[in-house]
Amino acid sequence: MKTYDVAVIGAGVFGAWTALQLARRGKRVILLEAYGPGHSRSSSGDESRIIRMGYGKDEIYTRWSQRSLAQWKELFARIVCRCFMRQAFCGLPVPMMRGSRKTRTTLRKCGVPFEELDSTGLRACFPQIGLDGIHDGVLEPHSGVIVARRAVAATVAEAIRLGVTYAHALVESPKNKGTLQSVKTNNGEEIFAGHFVFACGAWLGKLFPEILKQRILSRGKKFFILDCHPEIHVSRPPALPTFLFQNDESYGMPDIENRGLKIALDAHGAAVDPDTQSRVVSEKSAQQMREYVARRFPALGMRPSRKRESVNTKYLERRFLIDRHPKWKICG
Ligand SMILES: Cc1cc2nc3c(=O)[nH]c(=O)nc-3n(C[C@H](O)[C@H](O)[C@H](O)COP(=O)(O)OP(=O)(O)OC[C@H]3O[C@@H](n4cnc5c(N)ncnc54)[C@H](O)[C@@H]3O)c2cc1C
Repeated sequence: MKTYDVAVIGAGVFGAWTALQLARRGKRVILLEAYGPGHSRSSSGDESRIIRMGYGKDEIYTRWSQRSLAQWKELFARIVCRCFMRQAFCGLPVPMMRGSRKTRTTLRKCGVPFEELDSTGLRACFPQIGLDGIHDGVLEPHSGVIVARRAVAATVAEAIRLGVTYAHALVESPKNKGTLQSVKTNNGEEIFAGHFVFACGAWLGKLFPEILKQRILSRGKKFFILDCHPEIHVSRPPALPTFLFQNDESYGMPDIENRGLKIALDAHGAAVDPDTQSRVVSEKSAQQMREYVARRFPALGMRPSRKRESVNTKYLERRFLIDRHPKWKICG
């Protein structure tokens, strides 16, 4: 019987990095994943994710983002993997939005380089964007995009190189009381460890229904990939930055690696089960997106070519959830 210092359950971005960091500290770690690192049902499994620094007054997120980007870059440099695309991020708030003022204050305090653009500056830099209702913007020239699925797979590969045991297995919902000493997998194995980290994203509510079903909100989130006319270059970086239209609750990124321009709607969709969720976006939503694109990107002549619904997980209090199980004792 092999025991580990830590068993990490879930190889999305959080589980993968947890396993890697523990391995760097010399711990014996097993990483258990039901579908595979960065699989397409997971939140981390898409082509791209924005990494930016401005989060209003919440300095903790800015500082976490700074540390996170530094660590991603260090990992990618070591393993020679091009998974960070530096390209300006532009936050486009509504006029005089307090959040935008606070973002600037926080960025200044944390030493993040940024530029402030008024409407003239925005029009000069990004003539392809329809700016109605937008009078200023914050440009972070050093932020950009992580190539998500590839980056998660690379993190797991690095963790394995440092000695982490990776197992493709579904961990069953623990039924014990008191101290957790082992978990069972769907292939009949029992894994013993001193500590267990459940980094299961949208699945947490299914694993721990008694404490999390009402607190973890797994919602469908729609995003669209837009094809551009081959002669139109303003949809690619550096002409188009990664963007966030705060008031529209939409954000996206330019055509990276010829995958098309991506736009996601931040609005919460219906509650979904991450194992069975349909990824098909309705024709009504696609039509709304066509109208939206015509308003915000009138010059690009784009049309949605691919559209998908993904699962987004929000903790009820709209914060990250990092906690100990309230009923289990800590051993060791
Ligand atoms: C459309 C969309 C766009 C987003 N855009 C951005 C963005 O631009 N920037 C940004 O910072 N964030 C963005 N996010 C949020 C970000 O993607 C998530 O916060 C992050 O990926 C969550 O990672 P995770 O590891 O918690 O979850 P996941 O990636 O979902 O990983 C959880 C893993 O646990 C595994 N698992 C679950 N249960 C078990 C079990 N019982 N046994 C074994 N394995 C199990 C699952 O298979 C899965 O692989 C976006 C999210 C979505 C959906």
